[in-house]
Amino acid sequence: MTMNLESFLLAMEKEVANYHTPVVDLIAVQTRDPFKVLVATILSARTRDEATALASRRLFNEAPDIYALAGLSEGRIRELIQPVGFFNNKAKYLYRLPNALKPYDDMVPDELDDLLKLPGVGRKTANLVLSVAFNKPAICVDTHVHRIMNIWGFVSAKNPETTEKELRKILPVKYWKRINSILVAFGQERCKPLGPQCDACLFEQECPKKGVTPRRVKRKYPDTIKLVSWNVNGLRAVEKKGFVDIVKESGADIFAVQETRAGLEQLSDELKNIDGYLSYFAQAGKKGYSGVGVYTRQKPLRVTIGINVNQFDDEGRVITLEFADFFLINAYFPNAQHELKRIDYKLAFNNALLEYAKQMVVRKTSIICGDFNVAHKAIDLANPKTNEKNPGFSIEERNWMDSFINAGWVDTFRVFNQEPGQYSWWSYRFNARNKNIGWRIDYFIIDANSKSRLISAAILTDIPGSDHCPVQLELKTGPKKR
Ligand code: SF4
Repeated sequence: MTMNLESFLLAMEKEVANYHTPVVDLIAVQTRDPFKVLVATILSARTRDEATALASRRLFNEAPDIYALAGLSEGRIRELIQPVGFFNNKAKYLYRLPNALKPYDDMVPDELDDLLKLPGVGRKTANLVLSVAFNKPAICVDTHVHRIMNIWGFVSAKNPETTEKELRKILPVKYWKRINSILVAFGQERCKPLGPQCDACLFEQECPKKGVTPRRVKRKYPDTIKLVSWNVNGLRAVEKKGFVDIVKESGADIFAVQETRAGLEQLSDELKNIDGYLSYFAQAGKKGYSGVGVYTRQKPLRVTIGINVNQFDDEGRVITLEFADFFLINAYFPNAQHELKRIDYKLAFNNALLEYAKQMVVRKTSIICGDFNVAHKAIDLANPKTNEKNPGFSIEERNWMDSFINAGWVDTFRVFNQEPGQYSWWSYRFNARNKNIGWRIDYFIIDANSKSRLISAAILTDIPGSDHCPVQLELKTGPKKR
């Protein structure tokens, strides 16, 4: 049975009536204060609701209005909002807010164009403030609205702006304000970005599940394996952005991380002992640099740190887990750096890793995952022309990637998806992630002889917390030896 958009929203609204209320709606209902709604909305971007609620509470204790906010230093604001994602940038925006509101008599404006002039306010924030704080018809398309509308095929859009444009044409105005609360509640609790709970979803039969990898329900003898790989850009930093819950909710059998930037002694117990997982780490000699780790539900047969080459092992770049039917090599490839200053080091690492992987592949399926720090082809980055000589897309790095693939390795993502605009890394600058000006530099690679084991590969663009997003691979269990 197919559902039209209106009946879909009515059914969803009924379903989420007892779900947890999104934090911004809660603040709006509790305070009816546009200032607090605006601030909480800025804080909520790419942040879990619990962190937004905590940061809002702390900040509003000291700054209940715009005048009190004007009395806080940027550093103090940063301290108060620390659990939220991108707190440095958000502290800057909030510090500038009192001045930015001066032309509006220190009040939050109620027009879209005026809101868009405020620091840290994009279309999503502006629309949410208009609808929640001022009760005006506006469609706030955040990650949940964008994702769920595309999953159901009501729109077919690559970014939230296009989803908003398409919804404006097809969504009756009476739903403009409601759609965000309904789908945020549903997206946070049931149709989660990482592992939607289709098995428990009321709409399981009707939902076309476009581009979805449902969570896998616990099973005793798995015949498939789900792996996730993520450059977290600092494990301690991403812990504050909900990393432990992300791993738990992922349904991954193996969750590999790169750029952990911490020694084992610096990691909290929560990070080392995620419920249901064993964890293994390789760290660099230099503090706060590089580092990789793996969380796994199943105990590996063997864990190997490094590839037996001192100059690379000193940087904590590789960890290998051997299981009965495959090797997982989790690698953080070096960055070639500005003016390709480190290209020789990088290519030497790449070749050494390839030689190392060749020793594994004669024995059983071998998977290499991680941040390769290179976009292979023009389709793998938004601006190939202007980056032809830059690190990550230099001819030397692309040639190496060609020779690597030609040596019998498969870029699993491209087995399933040939579309442009599929990226795993975005610069923190120029609002690049929202505009999807990115690069695909994170990969799951498998040896060509094991290609028949592939079930799916995906990029989990909706997971916030790092300048990279996770990538995912599902494969069938396989023979134990070659
Ligand atoms: S069936 Fe799955 S993908 Fe579809 S709405 Fe429910 S949770 Fe989301």
